[in-house]
Amino acid sequence: MEVGVAIEEGVALSRLTTIGTGGPARFFARPHTLDELQDAVAWAASAGVDVEVVGLGSNLLVHDEGVDALVLRLDGELAQARVERTELVAGGGAANAVCLHRARAAGLGGFEFASAIPGTAGGGVRMNAGAYGSDWRDVLVSAVVVDAAGARTVTADELDLAYRRSSPRPGEVVAEVRFGLTPRPPDEVKAVVADLLAQRKATQPTNKRTFGSVFKNPSTEAGAGWMVEECGLKGHRIGGAVISPRHANFIENAGDATTADAVALMAEARRRVHDRFGVELEHEVKFLGPLELPPL
Ligand SMILES: Cc1cc2nc3c(=O)[nH]c(=O)nc-3n(C[C@H](O)[C@H](O)[C@H](O)COP(=O)(O)OP(=O)(O)OC[C@H]3O[C@@H](n4cnc5c(N)ncnc54)[C@H](O)[C@@H]3O)c2cc1C
Repeated sequence: MEVGVAIEEGVALSRLTTIGTGGPARFFARPHTLDELQDAVAWAASAGVDVEVVGLGSNLLVHDEGVDALVLRLDGELAQARVERTELVAGGGAANAVCLHRARAAGLGGFEFASAIPGTAGGGVRMNAGAYGSDWRDVLVSAVVVDAAGARTVTADELDLAYRRSSPRPGEVVAEVRFGLTPRPPDEVKAVVADLLAQRKATQPTNKRTFGSVFKNPSTEAGAGWMVEECGLKGHRIGGAVISPRHANFIENAGDATTADAVALMAEARRRVHDRFGVELEHEVKFLGPLELPPL
């Protein structure tokens, strides 16, 4: 079939993830518009190939052997953001930093909490990303989701956002996100963001290659990072992957890490936490390709 977007083969995904590991995508495309995105998704359906999306790869581990799918990175119009009265309308691939910049310039507040989340508007929907007591659920009005059946607008309720999860499944691409914000002077937004970023810098590794939180916090009082730390794992290393000496719910790439190293470290941390606390940690980071943790 005719496709309105170039489909490349064998594109390295390691440079599209913040941890910097993983193999190539069998097929890869960068749709710039909704039409191009729909074309790419239709092409995958006709070729019998799965569709996956990479945002800024900031909570993503890609299999070292690569991914047998059409991997999409939203670009162009789909990575931009604009303001409509008190709403911010962002392409699914728009970086949170771009969204925040647009909101602040328009004198809108409410998105400050996302300043330290280095992802995209669409990735934030998939993860229901959040920080400092707020998450996407608090600001999301609606989203446009594309799959092989076409594009549809879904409401915040339909997205069923909960702690680090939402209803879209792999193969469903968030093409646009509408956030409802409130008027706030740009200087105030700027001051809040500066304060949040300083708090972040004081507690987490901000100048290392990581993929953000490894595990979700369980419903028990103790956080995942605290439990991993109590198991004596801060600084523990497998291959090129290290449990951050700064915050035990982060894994750092010490230079030559592979995804297999990171997964082995996760398995070890999960096993030790289970042995010591009887808690089964669930991974927050998303896997692309045939990756899984061994059963406990
Ligand atoms: C230093 C650091 C700090 C972090 N701090 C936080 C934090 O405070 N709070 C927090 O919640 N997270 C945090 N994260 C994790 C991460 O930034 C968030 O989960 C973010 O929302 C992921 O967005 P992304 O665009 O990078 O998605 P990716 O990591 O690229 O992908 C994550 C998942 O979303 C899917 N996805 C991405 N884009 C789309 C789309 N357009 N449509 C459908 N599915 C899509 C992917 O297929 C994958 O399943 C942090 C990460 C780092 C590296």
